[in-house]
Amino acid sequence: MKSIYAKAWGCFGIMMLGAVSFMTSLAFLNNEVLLYLFLILGSVTFLAGIILHYVFVKCPHCDTHIGRVYGSHCPHCGKPFNK
Ligand SMILES: [Zn+2]
Repeated sequence: MKSIYAKAWGCFGIMMLGAVSFMTSLAFLNNEVLLYLFLILGSVTFLAGIILHYVFVKCPHCDTHIGRVYGSHCPHCGKPFNK
């Protein structure tokens, strides 16, 4: 099983990819097709990262979504993330 930290960073990476695509679109202000392509791609990728974060970054014990991984124990049930 992948650690919760790897999942959290993976989802964060997807969000950053979306943000980068979003910003890349600004380089195509003179090309409407590419502008909207990168804007939509960026938004979808960013949202996908957030959704994946909600789906996968959960406490293995109480199944609560953990917004940000602080420390090694669940803030809700107090149990360690790594079994
Ligand atoms: Zn928990």
